[in-house]
Amino acid sequence: MASTPEALEPQLWRHAAACAGSDPTPFFPRDDLDEQVRRDLEHQALQVCSRCPVRVPCLQYSRVTGQEYGVWGGLTPSMRHQRATR
Ligand code: SF4
Repeated sequence: MASTPEALEPQLWRHAAACAGSDPTPFFPRDDLDEQVRRDLEHQALQVCSRCPVRVPCLQYSRVTGQEYGVWGGLTPSMRHQRATR
């Protein structure tokens, strides 16, 4: 039986997430918001991520599952896109 990548076992890291139980709005701001409002919300999310002990598996999970939206692993979608295209 093939092993499952750790990143695809959310329960192994999500229980330690700094964002667990918090308001998801800053992590997934709506597309129709004013750009500055979106940035402010993303900044709030990034502050939570900065003290999160599971940034690496969170980011891996977002990559493996092709997450295009939201803040994952301490990176906004545009940050992830920049990293992917370097
Ligand atoms: S890195 Fe950010 S989005 Fe990922 S689990 Fe931690 S707090 Fe949540």
